[in-house]
Amino acid sequence: VKLREIGEFGFIDRIAAGAVPADPSRVLQGIGDDASVVRPSAGLLLVTTDLMVERVHFLRDSITMYQLGRKSVAISLSDIAAMGGVPHDLYVSIAVPEDLQVEELDELYRGMKEIAREAGVDLLGGDTTGSRQDLVINTTVTGSAAPDEVIYRHGARPGDRILVTGTLGDSAGGLRIVLESLRLPDEIAAPLLKAHCDPELYLREARLLAVSGRVHSGIDLSDGLASDLGHICRASNVGAVLESGRVPVSAELKRLCEIAGGDPLELALSGGEDYRLLVTVDPDAADALADEIRRATGRTPHAIGRIVEGEDIFLETPDGRLDPLRLRGYDHFKR
Ligand code: ADP
Ligand code: MG
Repeated sequence: VKLREIGEFGFIDRIAAGAVPADPSRVLQGIGDDASVVRPSAGLLLVTTDLMVERVHFLRDSITMYQLGRKSVAISLSDIAAMGGVPHDLYVSIAVPEDLQVEELDELYRGMKEIAREAGVDLLGGDTTGSRQDLVINTTVTGSAAPDEVIYRHGARPGDRILVTGTLGDSAGGLRIVLESLRLPDEIAAPLLKAHCDPELYLREARLLAVSGRVHSGIDLSDGLASDLGHICRASNVGAVLESGRVPVSAELKRLCEIAGGDPLELALSGGEDYRLLVTVDPDAADALADEIRRATGRTPHAIGRIVEGEDIFLETPDGRLDPLRLRGYDHFKR
């Protein structure tokens, strides 16, 4: 079925079905009027927005519509997590190319609604338009946090331990499988493709970190560890030392590199779209915080280095040598 057969409003009706806000005393109007109407929650309002453009951020034939729905919402939820917030509401605007079937849009929205439900987020509106060729998806997520809970990029202090919430480079490994058409055993390919197409979220970890009062700065890893840690360092006027032996790399990524070539550490440092959280924490609190998170969520943050004075980022080899880190993440306008 083509979108022109059911029309824009037929499509919006399909979206609205199953997007009933969980708490009618908080959301007075969801999809269906000129604007949503929401009772503000206590604390500070967080708002983040992300744009996903076909052929720039994804290839339509290498991700399912369901996964694309989940991922496009996940990247915005990850930004709220990185700020230490609780996510509340989701807005989705899409430009739909003529060749896209209504059934594919249903799958896209099934993924969006599913991850929204998992995160406790309501889909409250958006906009719909046509597109000549490419599918374009904009997601906006609101959230909240108490003023003393917000985790900014700018608070890192020399001495802080650097924690990341999961392995690094898996998404870049998944992207390599797609772009290089790698043929790998399923037990290697599946988790890497999953990391790339349907990344894990760390909303509970984010809240535990935010309320601990021991986190000085944080970011979610979208562009790559080297690049995103660079953002923390510039915003905080500090440098950093990454301990290469501690950077967590999955067994699957190691196997991919054994089979197809490449260096897992390099993918971990420069690969984008991992969406793990990176935080810098009071060194006296790092172990206890990591333990608390492991007990509460079953997922263990890894300590991968430390914040230092200065402005440079170094990679420390296991024998103690410091090498300047030159690897860069992805930048849309700089090559
Ligand atoms: P307007 O002309 O005022 O922009 P629309 O007809 O575009 O109104 O939208 C009607 C309702 O449907 C609004 O509540 C809007 O937020 C919602 N909506 C439109 N497109 C989408 C979409 N792609 N996803 C979610 N909600 C949407
Ligand atoms: Mg509109």
